[in-house]
Amino acid sequence: MNKSDLARLSIAAIHQKLKNKEIKFFDVIESVFQQIKNNEKKISAYISLFEQESFEQAQQLDQTVKDFSNLHPLTGIPFAIKDNICVKDKLATCGSRILHNFNSPYDATAVQRLKDAGVIIIGKTNLDEFAMGSSNETSYFGKVANPLNPEYVPGGSSGGSAAAIAYSGCLGALGTDTGGSVRLPAAFCGVVGLKPTYGRVSRYGLIAFASSLDCIGPITKTVQDAALILSTIAGHDPYDATSVNMPVNQFLCNPDALKDYTIGVPQEYFTKGLDPRIAQIVEKTIAELGKKCKAVKQISLPHTSYTIATYQLICTAEASSNLARYDGVKYGLRITKDDLIEMYEQTRGQGFGAEVKRRILLGTYGLSKGYYDEYYGTAQKVRALIKQDFDQAFKTCDIIITPTAPTPPFKLGEKIADPLTMYLSDLFTTSASLAGLPAISIPSRDKINGFPAGIQLIGRAFAEQEVLNCADAIEKLYA
Ligand code: GLN
Repeated sequence: MNKSDLARLSIAAIHQKLKNKEIKFFDVIESVFQQIKNNEKKISAYISLFEQESFEQAQQLDQTVKDFSNLHPLTGIPFAIKDNICVKDKLATCGSRILHNFNSPYDATAVQRLKDAGVIIIGKTNLDEFAMGSSNETSYFGKVANPLNPEYVPGGSSGGSAAAIAYSGCLGALGTDTGGSVRLPAAFCGVVGLKPTYGRVSRYGLIAFASSLDCIGPITKTVQDAALILSTIAGHDPYDATSVNMPVNQFLCNPDALKDYTIGVPQEYFTKGLDPRIAQIVEKTIAELGKKCKAVKQISLPHTSYTIATYQLICTAEASSNLARYDGVKYGLRITKDDLIEMYEQTRGQGFGAEVKRRILLGTYGLSKGYYDEYYGTAQKVRALIKQDFDQAFKTCDIIITPTAPTPPFKLGEKIADPLTMYLSDLFTTSASLAGLPAISIPSRDKINGFPAGIQLIGRAFAEQEVLNCADAIEKLYA
């Protein structure tokens, strides 16, 4: 294999080559930066790149690592981090003008754990402003294009991370998923995206959008790589009171476990909003799975039609509260004015883009006196019903299979003027977010106009291992 093609391999394959001393850490970084040079102009996956530092770190590893038998599987692996996750002394812009000059004073816990494992952080990736979006068109730093076809959106909001993985501009990436932002771009770019159970991975150092939904998750080429990253970043963190104190095993992939699983197919997901070509791909996969798993069962998630409205009420309410801190005083942009109120107004008015302002306004309205019970209160009650749907379903099945997105990727510019249509991209991803459940998107074998479809698997809370086993089995089925 040509050394310049190394970046196309999975993390696991690179690790093996490093261990066998077939390649150097330097070769891997060199190959990744070659891909970045070839693609980045067209795709714009990154907001910042740390080229020189990355080469130095690789050289350092080449000089210092002596014991290759105990090499951590992530040592020397080039990583991209979404730009709403803090990396010490690096910009953390959230794709927003209001934080365009904000440098993080500390590492997010997930980043710290990756660094402890020896990864090389090569850059910070583009995103929809404050992770609000499904297409990666709202960043202050410009849109991201889909590497499979640059006329199309990469999906959002972790579109930079998914695009970087898709064009081999890194080997592992972190994204964040509040209502689907790891899974949707993974689906659109033809890669793997895993949203862990809420509480599995610390949110410390993840700049908050909607705190009761936000999760950090890996975006990778393979299911096994996602398992490796999750094993490294998961686990209790005293800095995040919502991180769960449960032992974390090394997540592995055991595709043979599929024979013990009952797969549930929720009838509500295969209705009129779903592109028939995607339906066909998912149904074909279910038929193939049926021959290898214990059973396939129709299930019902009766409150599915309320998920988008519930998600929008909750995420905007939480966003309006979380984003109140950007006022020109503590972080980032400040438009200087003699009058304090005018300074706030100008800073927020010029610092935030249209989608972020829309969500702050909606959320403030939903939380205001007289409307609080009707909007936010009702949404919380429906959220509990959505969670109960899953509790019920998981009495009769182990894994739920659905499409990740209702449509294939759309063209850049196609939906940006119509937020309601844009919100429908999250039709199938928001329910697992509201219920706090682990969910993965893996690319299908069959393609629609060159784009694979995303297959989503949802598991019980903290059953990432089962989700990974099943996803790995499907990946092997497709191979
Ligand atoms: N696309 C969804 C939204 O616009 C989800 C965003 C996310 O998961 N960060 O809110």
